[in-house]
Amino acid sequence: MIEQRIKASIRDIHDFPKPGIIFKDITPILKDAQLCEGILDAFVEQLKGTEIDVVAGVESRGFLFGLSLACRLGVPFVPVRKAGKLPYAIKQKVYELEYGQATIELHTDAFEPGARVLIHDDLLATGGTVTAASELIAEMGGTVVGFSFVVGLGFLNGKEKIEPISENIVVLAG
Ligand code: 5GP
Repeated sequence: MIEQRIKASIRDIHDFPKPGIIFKDITPILKDAQLCEGILDAFVEQLKGTEIDVVAGVESRGFLFGLSLACRLGVPFVPVRKAGKLPYAIKQKVYELEYGQATIELHTDAFEPGARVLIHDDLLATGGTVTAASELIAEMGGTVVGFSFVVGLGFLNGKEKIEPISENIVVLAG
């Protein structure tokens, strides 16, 4: 099962990036080409029936599988980036973090109004990042038709937070 294989490959790093946090390090997954193929197969399978015009991957680990997934689906990939990284004209969204604020940006030509957008990231924690991405996409005229994540941290209730945006939430290892 893909879920067991993902879980077996994830490394818990204690006190990263700050004391008290247990960080889920997904980099061992990337060293296993067969597992990466399996992850893409599972996303494609679980997204069957979802009409997707564009995959939006969230910086930075959302780029890892996001582009490959878009290629598998035969649709464009667009990067959702932190402030100041995108070279062309941008739209941005400022959102609240536990302490302070963060900004995400998309190129203004990322997609056409009315586009059906799948948001992809490596990991769903509180759901704050993908909620901000959804708001930015909506402000630009896109429709969020689903979310995909390799890993979900169930105890942080991210799914509950993003369900009102779309109930089409694929989490391969929860
Ligand atoms: P959220 O906004 O859902 O609270 O946090 C998710 C975002 O933070 C994702 O972009 C994800 O890459 C990053 N993130 C938070 N905690 C972890 C973690 O333990 N492991 C990894 N790989 N990413 C994390």
